[in-house]
Amino acid sequence: MNTIHTDVAIIGAGSAGLSAYRAAKAAGASAILIEGGAHGTTCARVGCMPSKLLIAAADAAHHATHTAAFGVHIDGAVRIDGREVMARVKGERDRFVGFVVAGVDAMPAADKLTGYAHFIDDNLLQVGEHTKVQAKSIVIATGSSAVMPAMYRALGERAIINDDVFAWNDLPRRVAVIGAGVIGLELGQALARLGVDVSVLGARGRVGPLTDPDVRAYAERVFSEAFRFEPRAQVQAAVREGDEVRVRYVSDAGETIEDTFDYVLVAAGRKPNVGGLGLSNTSLELDADGLPVYDPLTLQAGARPVFIAGDANGVLPLLHEAADEGRAAGLNAARYPDVAPLERRAPLGIAFTDPGIAMVGARHADLVPKSFVTGEVSFEDQGRSRVMLRNRGLMHVYADRENGRFVGAEWIGPDAEHIAHLLAWAFQMKLTIDDMLRMPFYHPVVEEGLRTALRDAAGKLA
Ligand SMILES: Cc1cc2nc3c(=O)[nH]c(=O)nc-3n(C[C@H](O)[C@H](O)[C@H](O)COP(=O)(O)OP(=O)(O)OC[C@H]3O[C@@H](n4cnc5c(N)ncnc54)[C@H](O)[C@@H]3O)c2cc1C
Repeated sequence: MNTIHTDVAIIGAGSAGLSAYRAAKAAGASAILIEGGAHGTTCARVGCMPSKLLIAAADAAHHATHTAAFGVHIDGAVRIDGREVMARVKGERDRFVGFVVAGVDAMPAADKLTGYAHFIDDNLLQVGEHTKVQAKSIVIATGSSAVMPAMYRALGERAIINDDVFAWNDLPRRVAVIGAGVIGLELGQALARLGVDVSVLGARGRVGPLTDPDVRAYAERVFSEAFRFEPRAQVQAAVREGDEVRVRYVSDAGETIEDTFDYVLVAAGRKPNVGGLGLSNTSLELDADGLPVYDPLTLQAGARPVFIAGDANGVLPLLHEAADEGRAAGLNAARYPDVAPLERRAPLGIAFTDPGIAMVGARHADLVPKSFVTGEVSFEDQGRSRVMLRNRGLMHVYADRENGRFVGAEWIGPDAEHIAHLLAWAFQMKLTIDDMLRMPFYHPVVEEGLRTALRDAAGKLA
């Protein structure tokens, strides 16, 4: 077996691994990037990008069928061609993947290895059956995989995950989406808007990432009006019947419902890909889930020369966090043992539903009760939102009672992805509610709704 020596070995060529590789090389270290699966990253192949492409098609369909209230009538049927929808999703997706793959192709051949890696000890990896890599430090950037509960595994190819949706050549007729987190809601609403008969079945009352009870209840109402949405369904059985799946569940109202679907799309959470890494061969301390205990700022596992970045560490499974963590892990691996903490950006999460959902700063669930005031705005009477007939939404902004600082926000509403950036920048700059109210607001814009919420918070602080 061939043995290669390197300063830094990186397991996984996803967004975190690629960032780690570039950072290690820029720091002057030698580095080997190891990939066992397909190149192109989860984000571009089966995550962020194809899901947003599907949502874009869904939005086009929705707008085309919701013109009448403006006095604009489409006299004739709006036709959704599932094959064309999926052809665009896959065509554009392949273009994005192509850019990533071209970047990998341009890397020196000596810096890349193909095969699944596992640890033999803290500094030694085996890659496939062919190569050993002796590294001064190692970055684990192996990403995460969709969880498939046992009940659905027996359904064979009729139980699918997000990856499978983006392999479709045509849209199916009926889909049960299991899970009401961000992925379940985004894909569920998109498929519903594209004419698929969708039921989104959550289990624990989740509505995307929301933790504020009022905002969550509002969002639940909005989605329940748009498609069959049961955030507290108890699925009792899922049985294969030929090419279909019969699902029986008890709804929140206590009703037993039986329905038949072409597919069960399981979006019931993701778990870090650490199972096959042979971590028991290392001296790393592992937690109850088998994940290395690590410092969330240096990304270092204990005092060992091992770093863990991106979805693999199971904390913030978001693209920009994976890229930031990868960069920090790569740099620290190159400089080991001289490691430095990552300066985390403002927490920011977005679900690309319609209306959009966003979270900035502290989550409502993590705030100390009575330490903050809540400023509120409903978008139902918000000027510009009504003009555009997009006047659904409820926003809560949280301000520290002691010093008036903006500490977080959760909301559902129009243009959430853009307003979320304004708020994340304000959070990171440690602005107070008064500072924010001194900023310009144009008229008539959706941001005036944000101003109403900020004014409400300011009034409660006074
Ligand atoms: C449907 C969906 C939609 C999403 N939408 C968004 C969004 O809109 N915005 C956002 O910010 N985030 C989104 N995400 C999350 C985002 O895609 C991830 O946070 C990000 O891609 C994680 O990057 P990563 O580098 O940690 O993992 P990955 O990109 O998955 O890379 C891990 C790599 O490691 C390889 N690997 C695993 N084990 C081994 C091994 N033992 N040896 C060698 N190689 C190995 C894998 O093959 C893989 O290529 C979405 C995710 C999904 C699934």
